[in-house]
Amino acid sequence: MKIDWKNLGFSYMPVKSNIRYRYRDGRWDQGSIYNSDRIELSVASNCLHYGQAAFEGLKAFRCKDGRVRIFRPAENARRMNKTSAHLLGPEIPEELFIDAVKRVVRDNIEYVPPYGTGGSLYIRPLLIGSSAQIGISAAQEYEFIILVVPVGPYYKGGIKPVDAYVSEDWDRAAPHGTGHIKIAGNYAASLKPTKVAKEHGCHVALFLDPRTHTYIEEFGTSNFIGIKPDGTYVTPESPSILESVTNKSLLELARDLGLTTERRRIHKDELADFSEVGACGTAVVVTPVGRIFIGDKVFSYGDCIGPVLKKLFDHMTGLQFGEIEDIHHWMLPLD
Ligand SMILES: *Cc1c(COP(=O)(O)O)cnc(C)c1O
Repeated sequence: MKIDWKNLGFSYMPVKSNIRYRYRDGRWDQGSIYNSDRIELSVASNCLHYGQAAFEGLKAFRCKDGRVRIFRPAENARRMNKTSAHLLGPEIPEELFIDAVKRVVRDNIEYVPPYGTGGSLYIRPLLIGSSAQIGISAAQEYEFIILVVPVGPYYKGGIKPVDAYVSEDWDRAAPHGTGHIKIAGNYAASLKPTKVAKEHGCHVALFLDPRTHTYIEEFGTSNFIGIKPDGTYVTPESPSILESVTNKSLLELARDLGLTTERRRIHKDELADFSEVGACGTAVVVTPVGRIFIGDKVFSYGDCIGPVLKKLFDHMTGLQFGEIEDIHHWMLPLD
């Protein structure tokens, strides 16, 4: 195995192994490591037809002291169980989830990018209803799979702002649908609006609240952060937003740094009041948003990352790579 660590992007590559647990007769098995990245499923598997599929995303880092640590896996366990409960799937005990993450990371330890390259090991847990059925109901059997893939620093050659296009014709989620949980179908629903955003020359789609199209919700794959000129960190509150672990963590870091934070509804007219806008999620931590296009209006936030988002980004990545003291105990050592 020879990997060009400095030139890793964010794309799939087969690694040594993945781990799989099967849920049958109301219980999880012990889990097994598989060296193939193929799965065998019935053509009538529930997840394929009816979308009973939940996923997660988190990362492991090779820290400055040489140890490997995982960022807040208990948060992902909790969220996956919230998603599973909504889909009438089984509970994954937190200990099983964390043990599964550790087992698969250990088996693929050679794929954790070295400290200093800026890369990390992306961890993707997946829960699918696997039993064969044609009638619409929750599956009887499930597979809990975790795959891993080494990824590069999202920002090769500096942090460049992205442009966002406000999707006024399509929503990613219904007012009381599944926007708040991490299911595969939400992404299927955002493909077309994201394509439309790209046709308008933007990188990402920004969604409004699906009931009134008045309030800011989130980007297709990341939460919305607005920074006021006085440094106040504002992020939307809504029942159809996915609760991002990154956003939750950045809110805490912002408070540690003495900033005021607000989680509340954000009217779309407020886009004019922010000095910085960011999109946050595990893959990127924070991406600055340079411009937001809405109807025939455009709001600009500068052509490089602003000072507040930069400070938060540096703090978060410093913590993840073990360069800054982990006062909240967010980093779980692998061994
Ligand atoms: C996963 C996801 C995010 C980011 O969540 P993190 O836990 O920070 O990675 C934001 N929005 C949507 C729609 C997501 O699916």
